[in-house]
Amino acid sequence: MSDSNNKDLREVHQDINDKAEGIHDKLKERATMHLEPVIDMHYQLRETAKAKEIIEKAMNLAREEIPKGHVATYIPELGKEDPHQLGICLYPLKGDKICLGDYNTRFTMQSVSKVLMLIVALEVCGLKNVFRKVGMEPSGEAFDSLVELDVSNSKPYNPLINSGALAVCGLLLPEVSFQDMLRYTRNVCSDAGIELNEDVFDSEMKTCSRNRSIAYLLQSKGIITTDVEDTLRFYTKMCSMNVTAESLANLGKKLANDGVCSLDGKRYMSSRTARIAKTLMLTCGMYDGSGAFAIKVGIPTKSGVGGGLLSVSDKRAGIGVFGPALDAQGNSIAGCKLLREISNELRLNLFYDPEWNSDQDAEENVLTAMKAASVM
Ligand code: GLU
Repeated sequence: MSDSNNKDLREVHQDINDKAEGIHDKLKERATMHLEPVIDMHYQLRETAKAKEIIEKAMNLAREEIPKGHVATYIPELGKEDPHQLGICLYPLKGDKICLGDYNTRFTMQSVSKVLMLIVALEVCGLKNVFRKVGMEPSGEAFDSLVELDVSNSKPYNPLINSGALAVCGLLLPEVSFQDMLRYTRNVCSDAGIELNEDVFDSEMKTCSRNRSIAYLLQSKGIITTDVEDTLRFYTKMCSMNVTAESLANLGKKLANDGVCSLDGKRYMSSRTARIAKTLMLTCGMYDGSGAFAIKVGIPTKSGVGGGLLSVSDKRAGIGVFGPALDAQGNSIAGCKLLREISNELRLNLFYDPEWNSDQDAEENVLTAMKAASVM
């Protein structure tokens, strides 16, 4: 190699080194910039008045989403809900409970109860038995899909979609009664007022041909060996328990504290069970909207078509939301917006990033619009 070539190469190396140093300096600068907000993580929740103000603002923004959503009508009784309701209860591990809007209104738990079924199944039947019947992967399909189960899979993708929850019910049925489940739900939600909503239960039992098909398909594959109609009734009763946003926040707070009530130290589930429930809520809790929700909000959450959202900000707070107008994936449209806002403002995102701001949201909207118009 000639001298001039060697010289070129040295210059290139020098250039790369200079650039790398520049990048390091920039990163160092940013790391110091980030240090303060990270140390300060817990401050917002202890400042109840300030947090309340932030949530109130977020509620106003979230209300603007309501006209874009619709209440669920495939269970006729749910179609009677007033779509304009919106409520939230945020219960920090340290600090006061913050309740706003329709936080005390009763609504049916619907798919949020899948978290409870999973918790009890893990505790009563054991991890191996549960995951012998269901997987732990996101499905990317609608909540009541049976296509992939039929065509390509020997077991449901995960316990938080209908097929998976029905499989879990098949395990639970020989072990516990619905009354046992109701009692546990009242305890873990610290809400003695939780009852079975008979009207919603009857309404769903008359119209649940899709869930019935799933249950028979599960039986044909040997995943459930219990009576199909009994299993379906057990599942539908679990979905028809009447809770409030506040009861969901009470449950979320125990999950956030690894299964223990921070007030009296009582354990409601093992920390392993709490961890599995939270992980699956993050990856599969919002059906085929789970990935986008994890990026935008970053709080493990489970939704139900009754408009409920159970969220767990780990080691920090339990959150319950109620907003019955739903988006296309069957998740509360205003509830998701509300969580997105407070996740940013109160730094609840698991992967909190101080530079994440509304500019990024705007950019993302442009990308979505471009995709929709097939420009990309
Ligand atoms: N009971 C409802 C069903 O099985 C629950 C669905 C949901 O909340 O997503 O269709």
